[in-house]
Amino acid sequence: MSTALSETAAATGYPSPALYIDGEWTAGSGDRTEPVINPATGEVLGHVPLATAADLDRALAAAARGWRVWRDTPVLRRTAILHRAADLMRERAAEIGRAMTLEQGKPLTESTGEAGRAAALLDWDTEEGRRAYGRIIPTGPGESLRVVREGIGPVAAFTPWNFPAGGPNRKIAAALAAGCSIVLKASEEVPATAVLLARCYQDAGLPAGVLNLVFGVPAEVSEHLIASPTIRFVAFTGSVPVGKLLAARAGSFMKPAIMELGGHAPVIVCDDVDPVAAAQACVRAKFTNAGQVCTSPSRFFVHESQHDAFVQAFVTATEAVVVGNGLEPGVQMGPLANARRREAVDRLVSESGAQVLTGGHALDRPGFFYAPTVLIDVPPDAALLTEEPFGPVAPILPYTDLDEVMDRANSLPYGLAAYGFTHRADRAEWLIDRFEAGILSINHAGGSVPIAPSGGFKESGYGREGGSEGLDGYLITKRVSHKLV
Ligand code: NAD
Repeated sequence: MSTALSETAAATGYPSPALYIDGEWTAGSGDRTEPVINPATGEVLGHVPLATAADLDRALAAAARGWRVWRDTPVLRRTAILHRAADLMRERAAEIGRAMTLEQGKPLTESTGEAGRAAALLDWDTEEGRRAYGRIIPTGPGESLRVVREGIGPVAAFTPWNFPAGGPNRKIAAALAAGCSIVLKASEEVPATAVLLARCYQDAGLPAGVLNLVFGVPAEVSEHLIASPTIRFVAFTGSVPVGKLLAARAGSFMKPAIMELGGHAPVIVCDDVDPVAAAQACVRAKFTNAGQVCTSPSRFFVHESQHDAFVQAFVTATEAVVVGNGLEPGVQMGPLANARRREAVDRLVSESGAQVLTGGHALDRPGFFYAPTVLIDVPPDAALLTEEPFGPVAPILPYTDLDEVMDRANSLPYGLAAYGFTHRADRAEWLIDRFEAGILSINHAGGSVPIAPSGGFKESGYGREGGSEGLDGYLITKRVSHKLV
């Protein structure tokens, strides 16, 4: 990295964003940049360079060369490099977390925790790469029949702003563990975290060209990269509309893809639970990352017998959430990540026609803060109940009949996450059977773990990240029959 680009802005501790192409840090060949805004203050932290078509072509050429180098690197050597990168992420978690909080807003505890979880996923995927075995199928003398699995080739990946470390690292870890190279376009709104991650891989000894990091005009970059014959696989995390666009574009070139898209997770609270404990667990999950999580619980269906007690406990716990600049100790919820998000949340709440029990407004301070909000008496046609809120808003809805509420829970085109609260084992199994979602949590609000797969179905996308499934999309399978002559 050149001195100017590697310098950390002393005043804010915010690293200068740059592109990482073919093992070198660069401002790119163009003169377009975008400001990066601190969502807790509205101040400009720095400027991210936007790649030109020439920069993207350099990244593609580097990824083509990098793939050949990486796939020919012995697996044990690849493993050592990737585990070293994970160690560096852990060592640098405080630095990565600080940059993340500055550019995305989430509290430092969440940011540093995310850096640690990124390292854990990298360790897991790396070991899965060692276990990406083929098999030998018994035949007869003089011949052998084998199944071989190997990396599909250079990957184009696109990640959003809500998990500045977790999002990009899920793509990088799976691609590299499978023996692929990658061109990653991380979010222009949170570039420094991706830069710090890339430095971990660089400092761990990853050969040039295996990982390339770019920023740019999203539609320009994805059009260019997906169409390139160099790219063999497309990986995207983000909204359903953009996912459909990119999946269609990938399909038009017959390229496989993984799509990690949005959701609108239902919670069903049965009549047999402790409503206070259930409400407290739901509040913790709801306001994590200010609700900007694709698996965030976002429709709370509570049995009528528990409704009032649940609502009361929910409001009490919500009003206790400490909102502020994520750099300050004790803060539990930061601002929304950008002005767009705050406007969208404000519109969904103000147009809902619901009764606001707490919150329901932007906070009168710099940055993009929105008060943690609880709504009841939500009209069934409120947009909030069908449009992913992606913010700190909890609509609570009473129900009478479990079959009927399960139909409501499953009525949306999403199939990502769902939550159930019951102390009865038979009911828990019933909920597990009926929920149309890829990520289920019963009696708690579980986060993602490296050892198990994450992903959705219906319009929430396809493919899985983590678990023993996490490398599947990044591997191809060859059938080899060999006559021994
Ligand atoms: P958006 O749909 O404009 O963008 C989502 C992400 O996709 C961003 O990172 C953006 O840079 C990228 N993107 C947009 N157009 C692209 C293109 N043509 N090619 C490649 N990348 C492209 O929305 P937004 O305002 O950033 O967020 C709005 C909604 O998106 C949220 O309300 C939420 O529903 C959804 N979202 C989901 C996730 C997730 O983790 N599944 C993450 C962020 C946003």
